[in-house]
Amino acid sequence: MSAFNSIQSDFAPGVANPGGQSPVLLVCEHASNAMPPSFGGLGLGAEALSSHIAWDPGALDTSTRMAGLLKSALIHSRVSRLIYDCNRPPGAPDAMPPKSEATVVPGNTDLSHAEQAARTEAYYRPFEALLSDTLDQRGRTAVLVTIHSFTPVYHGVPREVEIGILHDTDTRLADAMLDIATGYRVERNAPYGPEHGVTHTLRRHALPRGLLNVMIEVRNDLLTSPQECAGMAETLAGWVTKGLDGLAGREAT
Ligand SMILES: [Zn+2]
Repeated sequence: MSAFNSIQSDFAPGVANPGGQSPVLLVCEHASNAMPPSFGGLGLGAEALSSHIAWDPGALDTSTRMAGLLKSALIHSRVSRLIYDCNRPPGAPDAMPPKSEATVVPGNTDLSHAEQAARTEAYYRPFEALLSDTLDQRGRTAVLVTIHSFTPVYHGVPREVEIGILHDTDTRLADAMLDIATGYRVERNAPYGPEHGVTHTLRRHALPRGLLNVMIEVRNDLLTSPQECAGMAETLAGWVTKGLDGLAGREAT
């Protein structure tokens, strides 16, 4: 194997708890802020590279714990969303964003078509294929749940919503979870929704297969320690389980 291939494999999508037998498949597209050294950090400083623009802080810890609680597999990205945002389709202007919130990303400005194509092949296509193959193996009973975190202050404006339950055109699981979610400020399609292009994974993988699906967004100031992530994982796993139980009950009657 060449050095190039071994570098690539360090950034290939990861699977946690692969033997998990639950119909739920967890996905964390923004799990990592890692970048192959050849990208030189895209010209950003250490502060930007550790901030929410590069990844979803707390999302991997929380979703890994959810995988344990739900006995489900978890597919997660191992490369920063600034290299390629795996929750965006090829060609989306923010798949390799030249600017994120107020930060210009020097390594993403004026990318050639060849550079964009190379990143798409190296980082998006393997993630897409792994998710697609896994869902094909699981069949029609699979349930797709994606886990994200968001920044408490965006463009200087504080966000009051604590947990967003997001959906695209299939609202079934989101509705069921919103019915039973308590203890936090929970909102539908907040702090953003499908009109902002954030439901790509659901649209690409769940809707065409007719699978139950939901995207969960947690404000990242609620995920600042392993203890907080553990508590949140328990809450969210409970909502997913109860939501699915509610839907199964409705179908049975
Ligand atoms: Zn995210």
